[in-house]
Amino acid sequence: MTIASVDRTIRLISTGTAPGSTCSPQLAAGPWEFDSGTPGYGPGSSMGDVLPTGSPRQGALPERYRTASADELDARIRSAKATLGDRVVILGHFYQRSEVLEHADFVGDSFQLAQATKSRPDAEAIVFCGVHFMAETADLLSGPDQAVILPNLAAGCSMADMADIDSVTDCWEQLEELYGTEADASGRVPVIPVTYMNSSAALKAFCGANGGIVCTSSNAETVLKWAFERGQRVLFFPDQHLGRNTAKAMGVPLERMPMWNPRKPLGGSTETELDAAQVILWHGFCSVHKRFTVDQITTARAEHPGVRVIVHPECPMAVVDAADEYGSTDYIKKAIEAAPAGSTFAIGTEINLVQRLAAEHPEHTIFCLDPVVCPCSTMYRIHSGYLAWVLEALVGDDGQPPAVLNRIEVPATDATNARVALERMLAARPPAGAPTSAAPAGAPESGTRA
Ligand code: SF4
Repeated sequence: MTIASVDRTIRLISTGTAPGSTCSPQLAAGPWEFDSGTPGYGPGSSMGDVLPTGSPRQGALPERYRTASADELDARIRSAKATLGDRVVILGHFYQRSEVLEHADFVGDSFQLAQATKSRPDAEAIVFCGVHFMAETADLLSGPDQAVILPNLAAGCSMADMADIDSVTDCWEQLEELYGTEADASGRVPVIPVTYMNSSAALKAFCGANGGIVCTSSNAETVLKWAFERGQRVLFFPDQHLGRNTAKAMGVPLERMPMWNPRKPLGGSTETELDAAQVILWHGFCSVHKRFTVDQITTARAEHPGVRVIVHPECPMAVVDAADEYGSTDYIKKAIEAAPAGSTFAIGTEINLVQRLAAEHPEHTIFCLDPVVCPCSTMYRIHSGYLAWVLEALVGDDGQPPAVLNRIEVPATDATNARVALERMLAARPPAGAPTSAAPAGAPESGTRA
């Protein structure tokens, strides 16, 4: 089927051919222009960030991919993929542009794609159409002979970059000084570190080495329960909103959730506040989800009586509180699939997913809460031109031997402990008999508003 294209919408808006507004008319150009010709590697690669010293560079995308039409690129990708057959598997995140997702073997959120990584152990290459931390996770969970490829090495995540290993280690040392390291009478250690999947492998390794765990937006509540069974409190990074929204739904009072700002002594909190803390929230956020506001919800309800408002838990607490429901991208998708025809949805998550859901469900009215077309600018870095480039390199093009471009490899020093934290997450299960929300059948955990 032909699916909606946010890129086309942005191009039409930017040329005045379509009404509406976009937060970044720059996105109408190819990402090779957006990247200023110097795409680089990994953490720190979000827009405007300084590239780490000594990082590998992928070089410029060859001109034949930059100047090819969308149809040409589509044909080149199909041809290369057919030639490679089972040797390659393509994974695509829900927020990826539709022109790229058309070629994915698996489409999902970061949790589903982590699981999908394990489903094709015979594939030589896993091409990950997402962002850097997701490709790192795929490398951790895939076999040693499988190469994980990120088509554009500049596809980072600005939220993931808000917590780095030096700042988190510094925070940890201050917390150890404050709380000590001894377990209490019930065997619970002073602090359990919990990192959102949207973080570097170095931080996942930190959690693995310090009794901690990874979570996603699909399983944050299950993971926090796991952590509270083992620790007196949790250090949650990098997304303050997912941590706050999840802990609040579990009954943790706001005054027991101080923020940790790495640029301030004791994170900007007092010893008294930290003594009472149950969840210490890192000062990070997603620039896409923080755009959603309560006013947008008010407007949606005024203009569409009966609308069902569902937002992602990376949105600010006031927005989550004002919505009818909140949940991961997979929750949102399943809620729409389970709804009776003729339903109206206002969705608070990334526009590529919302526009695609609207195209896939003509029986419903589905729109994005934010009227400004503002996609994730780091997911955007994966363009069909980059996908064609890495696939044709695997085949061997223009008389060149086959080559693996843009491989993501987690250093062995981090890999073992990062896998420990990931495997703890994959093994964590909601306690038997735990109350469940009014989620649609098959949906991951979520919250609903009365
Ligand atoms: S939507 Fe937000 S959290 Fe997700 S990749 Fe983009 S910047 Fe990162």
